[in-house]
Amino acid sequence: MKRAAVIGAGTMGNGIAHVLAQHGWSVALIDTVPAALEKATATIRSNLERQVKKGALPAGAPAEVMGRIATATALDAAAEASLVVEAASENPAVKFAVFEQLDRLAAPGAILATNTSSISITEIAARTRRPGQVIGMHFMNPVPVMQLVEVIRGHATTDETTRTVMAAASALGKTPVEVNDYPGFVANRVLMPMINEAVFCVMEGVAAPEAIDTVMKLGMAHPMGPLQLADFIGLDVCLAILEVLHRGLGDDKYRPAPLLRRMVAAGYLGRKSGRGFYDYREAK
Ligand code: NAD
Repeated sequence: MKRAAVIGAGTMGNGIAHVLAQHGWSVALIDTVPAALEKATATIRSNLERQVKKGALPAGAPAEVMGRIATATALDAAAEASLVVEAASENPAVKFAVFEQLDRLAAPGAILATNTSSISITEIAARTRRPGQVIGMHFMNPVPVMQLVEVIRGHATTDETTRTVMAAASALGKTPVEVNDYPGFVANRVLMPMINEAVFCVMEGVAAPEAIDTVMKLGMAHPMGPLQLADFIGLDVCLAILEVLHRGLGDDKYRPAPLLRRMVAAGYLGRKSGRGFYDYREAK
């Protein structure tokens, strides 16, 4: 059986483990926090059961898929994997430490992928002795639903690693798109300036958040307006990515809107904190 390891069992890690196990991989799901592992397995089970109810999976599938997922709190559980997908917290120090350890314990032929939204693949790869086998595998949230995997080549990533990861993503039923390692890759480099511009529009009183989102939904056929999407992603996450773009590309067109900074400082982080451009406290 194909063996994978997923590092980090949060929002993205549980979805990545779900999709890999559903497509026949045995998965070691690793998180330093035991409660995160419990929550992740409960989430995967309930998402599989929802797929059964919708008729997308046969009745026996949840037990079969769950049987392919083993949880662990130590990175050693990744030793047998041929593909490791790191989805730990978006913090360079955390990722660098994880990749240094993975490089020591993973099989020599193993590919080490990261789901980072904004940290340089090249810098992560440079922490290992196998930079040719390090690559970005940027899944979108929610992973079982979203079609795209942005496959990001670091400066030293080999053609063979890229081919293997593109093929693996296709076999998961996803559409992989190959891009190169520059700040924000493609997804966030194009999305975040749009969100930022929408925040400037609110700040300058051009229109109310609902009006801006309606313009973009009905006028551009976007399924969700940029401010609603920003609330969903987390305003702190949007701010951090804009700072990466601003610093990494050195162009003031990426400067975060002062209103975005102010909202983050006030703890208005979007859906997860109950308030952002919209108020979610009633729904909770
Ligand atoms: P999250 O905070 O929900 O989960 C991160 C998990 O990593 C936590 O459970 C934490 O305990 C664990 N962790 C931290 N340090 C660890 C370590 N050293 N070893 C093992 N586990 C560790 O985060 P998330 O939203 O799932 O994001 C994970 C990654 O995916 C980030 O790099 C993020 O940029 C990226 N990403 C997120 C989204 C999104 O919409 N949330 C989308 C695309 C990519």
